[in-house]
This record gives sequence, C-alpha cells and structure tokens, in this order.
Amino acid sequence: MHDFVVVGAGPAGSRFARRTAEAGHDVVVFEKGDVGTPLACSGHVSTDIWEYVPETARSRLFQTEVHGARFHVGGPDSSAYRFYKHEAVSNVIDRVELDRTLAACAEDAGAAVHEGHTVTHVEEHNDRVVLTVSADGETQTVETRMVAGCDGPTSRVRRSLGLEEPSELLHGVLAFDDEPDHGDDVDVHLTAPRFFAWRIPRGDAGVEYGLAAPPGDDVSALFDRLTDAYDVETEHFCSGAIPIGPPSSVTTRRAFLIGDAAAQTKPFTGGGILYGMTAADVAAATIDPTDPSTLGAYETEWRDELEREIRLGRFVRACYSLPEPVQRVGLRALSGEIGVHMDRPSSFFSREHLRRLFG
Ligand SMILES: Cc1cc2nc3c(=O)[nH]c(=O)nc-3n(C[C@H](O)[C@H](O)[C@H](O)COP(=O)(O)OP(=O)(O)OC[C@H]3O[C@@H](n4cnc5c(N)ncnc54)[C@H](O)[C@@H]3O)c2cc1C
Repeated sequence: MHDFVVVGAGPAGSRFARRTAEAGHDVVVFEKGDVGTPLACSGHVSTDIWEYVPETARSRLFQTEVHGARFHVGGPDSSAYRFYKHEAVSNVIDRVELDRTLAACAEDAGAAVHEGHTVTHVEEHNDRVVLTVSADGETQTVETRMVAGCDGPTSRVRRSLGLEEPSELLHGVLAFDDEPDHGDDVDVHLTAPRFFAWRIPRGDAGVEYGLAAPPGDDVSALFDRLTDAYDVETEHFCSGAIPIGPPSSVTTRRAFLIGDAAAQTKPFTGGGILYGMTAADVAAATIDPTDPSTLGAYETEWRDELEREIRLGRFVRACYSLPEPVQRVGLRALSGEIGVHMDRPSSFFSREHLRRLFG
C-alpha cells in the first residue's frame, strides 16, 4: 500500500510528489500523457517561480522578462494605458520544460512517476483508496492510504468522489507567431466577454496571442478577430479550460485536490501555476497519510494562504465588465508605475501602494 498516489504530473502534482517523497513517504504519480504535453498555457509567471526549480534549470526555462502591461479597452489601435515597474514584474517561461523539470525533481526525491497511465476510477474506503489505472490497454488496481487529485480543471478524481465543481470554467486559447520579440510589455485587451485577450512577447520563441472567455462565447471567432486586428498568421493553436472559484470543500476522508482540480487560480488572470504549487507545499506540510484528520488542516491552511487573494482577484476581474467609459477613467487614473506583486492583489490595496498611487 502506497502512502500517496498522485493523479496528474502538472506543477501541482509534481511539486506535491517531490515534497512528500523528500519527507520519506512512498509516493507514486500517474500521468495520463507525456509530462508537459499537450501545451495549453502561456507560462507567464511571477519571478517567485525560481524558488521552485533548481538554479541549473533557469537557462532552459527562461524566455523573457516582463516589466509592464499595456491595457487597451479596444484592439491594438486603441489607446494604451501602461502599468509598469523598473524591475521585472514577471517572466515568460517554457511551460513544457517547467513540467518536465518539476517531474524530474519529484523523481530525484524518490517518487515513482509513470507516464501513459490514466486513472479511470477512484473508490474510497474507510482504511484506503483503490484506484483503477489503465496503461497500454491493460487495467490494474492500486491501493493507497491517500490520493491527491492533481488532475487539472476537469479532474476525474473530483468527479469520482462527488466533490463540488469550481464556480466557473473559462475556455482559453492561444497560438504563436514565430517572429522573435524581445519587448518588455505584454498587451491586454479588455475585448473578450468577462475576461481579456493578450499578446505576450516571448523573446526568440516569438509572440503569443491568446484569450479566454466563458465557454458559451465563440472563443475561436474572438481569437480570429484578435489576430486579424494584429494582422498576423499564427500556428500551434492550443486550447484549455481555466477553472475559477474554488469549491467549498476540496477534501474527503482520504482524498484531496490540489491546483486546477481545486480551482486554486487567480480569477483576474486565470494563472494557477504558482497558486497550485503554494497549495501543494501546504498539503505536503500538513497531511499525514496515516491520519485522515490532518486533511482538515490542509483545507484550512491553503485557504488561509490563498483565499483572500482569490477574493480580491475576483474584485479586480469584475472591473473587466465595467462600461468602457468607466474603464478608461479608471485606467487613466491608475496607470503609471506600480508597486504590486503579480500573484497578490492584496499588494495593490496595501497602504504603501495606495499612498504611492494617490500621494
Ligand atoms: C490558455 C491558458 C493559458 C494559461 N496561462 C497561464 C499563465 O500564463 N500562467 C499561469 O500561472 N497559469 C496559466 N494557465 C493556467 C495553468 O495552465 C494551470 O493553472 C496549471 O497548469 C495548473 O496546474 P495543475 O498541476 O493543477 O494542472 P495541470 O497542469 O492541468 O496538470 C494536470 C495533469 O493531470 C493529468 N491528468 C488529467 N487527468 C488524468 C487522469 N485521469 N489520470 C492521470 N493523469 C491525468 C494531465 O495530463 C495533466 O498533466 C493557463 C491556462 C490556459 C488554459
């Protein structure tokens, strides 16, 4: 019987597997595909990312440094309101390589990572969890003291155990133009319903165009409108779901969710790489596989760490749906040099930052 079976080797699963293997637990990870693929992410992250990977990985992962964002109420020809910092606000990284690096860290720590293994069913018992796993046309059952559902926005673990769904699933799409761009700023267009479209310079890796919106909206047509407005042809089109709004509970007696499976994402950007790994560290520090009562501590502590930021992030996102004239006034008033941390909307509302804005 394993201590932990981790379903999914994305950032949340690999980080949790690494930390629990380092603590001496018997940890197995099942990943249905090849780690890191298919890509459905911009890899635009705060500089905190470097705390989670070995120093030697930096040169493989790093693509560009971002200093600011130009907000537009309309398309590329509309006025831009620039928010910037002199130092780097964020980095753009190779997301496929990030996942491979994190999975390798988990393996180095002693976790067994199995690619091409799909978990098709999860059954919870009083004293263990039994998983059905399929690989190469064969099916096996695996027993574990606890299971970590790190299987992304449409989590099978969440559904098998009857846990509540996230409040919302947005549909995100992106594609690339090969032309190198070493620019400092990302462009944000408040033109997608209830969310936004973006243009991200990725250094020698080219330029990324993308957007997210609620699934009822024709996201592909909105994407074509964005790239037509920029007059670019893109390739490597990718698509994925973005969960927003964590369920009221992400734990059962012997199972728990981390990352997108638990909708641990920023409501105002959809970003979940760092929130997922933050929650993975909380889970590894609080959960004892021999003591189901410790799951209560995970549920409380990840919310202590992230829930306030998620609530404030929801408030920021509500501004994307304000009438255009109000958006213009707000953007004009607030643009300029900022002192905020990309993952922490609370830094925007800090006394220091408000004094700087209005002082
Ligand atoms: C278009 C788009 C752009 C984005 N851009 C950014 C960004 O710039 N910055 C950012 O921070 N976030 C971004 N995100 C969000 C980010 O991709 C996620 O928050 C992040 O990947 C969540 O990590 P995770 O480990 O929880 O889940 P995932 O990365 O989704 O990993 C889940 C893993 O589980 C595996 N899996 C699923 N089901 C099973 C199963 N039954 N059995 C075995 N394995 C299974 C999957 O193959 C996958 O490898 C973006 C998302 C989208 C859609």
